Amino acid sequence: MPHSTPLITHTLGFPRIGDRRALKWALEAYWRGDDTADRLHATGHAIRQQILDDHVAAGITRPPVGDFSFYDHVADTALLFGQTPRRFGPMANTLDNLFALGRGRTAKGRNTAPLAMKKWLNSNYHYLVPELETDQPIMLDAARYLDLVREARAASSKAKPVLLGPLSFLWFSRGLDESARLARAEALADAYRTLLAKLAELGVTWVQIDEPILTLDLPLAWLQAFEPTYHRLRVPRIKLLLTTYFGDLNGNVALAAQLPVDGLHIDATATADLIAVADRLPDYKVLSVGILDGRSIWRADLAALLDRLRPLHTRLGDRLWLAPSCSLLHLPLDAESESELPDFLRRNLSFARQKLQELRLLARGLTEGWNAIALELNQTAAARATLDAQPGRIDPQLRAETATIPQHSPARPAPFSARSAAQQARFRLPLLPTTTIGSFPQTPEIRQARKAFKNREINAAEYEAQMKSEIAEVIRAQEAIGLDVLVHGEAERNDMVEYFGEQLDGFAFTREGWVQSYGSRCVKPPIIWGDVRRSRPMTVDWARYAQSLTDRPVKGMLTGPVTILFWSFVRDDLSREAVCNQIAEALRGEIADLAAAGIGMIQVDEPAFREGLPLRRKDWPSYLTWAVRAFRHAVSIAPSDVQIHTHMCYSEFNDIIESIAALDADVITIETTRSNMQLLDAFADFDYPNAIGPGIYDIHAPQIPTEAEIEARVRLALARVPVERLWINPDCGLKTRSWAEVTPALEAMVAVAQRLRADL
Ligand code: GLN
Ligand code: ZN
Repeated sequence: MPHSTPLITHTLGFPRIGDRRALKWALEAYWRGDDTADRLHATGHAIRQQILDDHVAAGITRPPVGDFSFYDHVADTALLFGQTPRRFGPMANTLDNLFALGRGRTAKGRNTAPLAMKKWLNSNYHYLVPELETDQPIMLDAARYLDLVREARAASSKAKPVLLGPLSFLWFSRGLDESARLARAEALADAYRTLLAKLAELGVTWVQIDEPILTLDLPLAWLQAFEPTYHRLRVPRIKLLLTTYFGDLNGNVALAAQLPVDGLHIDATATADLIAVADRLPDYKVLSVGILDGRSIWRADLAALLDRLRPLHTRLGDRLWLAPSCSLLHLPLDAESESELPDFLRRNLSFARQKLQELRLLARGLTEGWNAIALELNQTAAARATLDAQPGRIDPQLRAETATIPQHSPARPAPFSARSAAQQARFRLPLLPTTTIGSFPQTPEIRQARKAFKNREINAAEYEAQMKSEIAEVIRAQEAIGLDVLVHGEAERNDMVEYFGEQLDGFAFTREGWVQSYGSRCVKPPIIWGDVRRSRPMTVDWARYAQSLTDRPVKGMLTGPVTILFWSFVRDDLSREAVCNQIAEALRGEIADLAAAGIGMIQVDEPAFREGLPLRRKDWPSYLTWAVRAFRHAVSIAPSDVQIHTHMCYSEFNDIIESIAALDADVITIETTRSNMQLLDAFADFDYPNAIGPGIYDIHAPQIPTEAEIEARVRLALARVPVERLWINPDCGLKTRSWAEVTPALEAMVAVAQRLRADL
């Protein structure tokens, strides 16, 4: 007999950027000084109200509160507990201080560097890495957080506060070594307890506390800290739901199940045996099952999920809660906005708002029985059948061509030493060659032109003429600055993945499918729904044109197979490896065409290379093998005298340096400024054999670097990389900056390179 009490449903978090990226526009207007703080607050309020309304309308029992942030929830947590770097001086928990942590600060002519950014586990969200200081007291400053809770509970008394757990917060911080961070757990837990007591005063009962690190391979000391830390968090009337996500608990099931909390949330998409977890759980505890994949844009097979849930429901009754696997932060807001997508695709999509509906359906299916949701189940199955029958979903010829890729070990025609000699004979670069990462400022005129072309207000010839004049301008500017290796500036690209996806078969594009990347920055990943194939050259005309304007080498600019894969929403009926190989095959064709067109340097960006790493070490080798192979498959077609560059941002390299070396790019440019060049140690310690361009200034911050700062960084690099293999470049592409920032910064960079060359 179906159980009749309604099940509790909840979400761990929700997109905070708002419909049509309302938060982005409000933030940027405020930062520019075009809008007041009041206006910004009003936008935030409206977004949060909408989130609550969405949950209530969909019948979700416990909407989240406190997951919202005007910039980043990890930095918010740092401010909440007074864990901010000394270089900023005392920092109260205010909005402007949050922005200072994210964007840096300039006061009295002095630049204060922002916090570093890092990928949030294996997602494409970047958090600000808290920097802990020695002898730093914990100071709870909770007004801003409590205001959010009060606001939400006035609208919905079931709103459930969300906190990043103390141990995950410490794990994700830096500044102190691992044991010094862990030593802070006790004091931090006491501050959490004070906060929980304040929540209790507001009438809160359930609080969600995120400890995603329980899905990682943790050192024993950290595992052992859980029990005592959570003992300290006990507060009368407050029930804690401990959440874990992005992976299974694996060896940590017993630990997590026994912690002194009232409920445990697990990622069911990564957990094979749900019953085994339920078996371990003391019978007063709630088990929140993250049954829907919180990062998948595809509608779930609800019938199959119901089959998984039914035995759990029988066992747990209303101690079973249902949720998506993780915060929905990583999904776009609403598939209903995508009226321009073909029906065969749109009907199969489930973004954040649709996930709420699916969640509700699952709860009803369990308690009211299959028949209650039969209509929706049938619709879902029919929609999927239509998609599977779509031409382009499976291209048998392409499948046959790419099937053998896993059996090959593709390699360039000669080893690096021979290639570099051939390349030096061709390009005759000076020592410490200067270059940039690819994009130049995307001015309002450029965006306007792209938009006008998209909306058919200007024709292809007009658009091409405008882009060419832009390219000519960028080439001229780079020559004037004195750079050695130029780029065409990427004016024609809205986004480094979408641009390629638009020209490849198998991709589709949303209008409003934005996902927050960091701060006000959002990305709009394309959807890979069919087999990926290149039917014509994608970049060759622009590259050839740019090269025709100058005697200096201009790098052709491509996005690599791994990055295109990870920055897209990928079909769920084919392995990632297989999709990646299809993309690599397409790029291989493009590289051959570029080389044949006389383009002597080709950069294949792989900023997402590390992001693809599975969370647990045991799964790394398999990923690294296919990811490296796909990259090599793409670039190995290039003749020896074609110089292959690659670029990666915000990565740690020490534990994957072998694979980085195995990519065998002639030059790799990386982001190193925020680590004060320490990331280079991995390359130095490994005796990395090829050339490296460590970024010598941070392009994410608006401050213009001084020559002294740049020179200091180049000297740090020279201490780690032999001069004949060192390049000089910024950390990343310049598209978000203005010319007023870029020109003096690059001039300073070139001046330093020239001065150092003269000394050598
Ligand atoms: N070539 C790209 C650019 O310069 C690289 C961007 C990135 O690494 N994310 O914008
Ligand atoms: Zn980058």
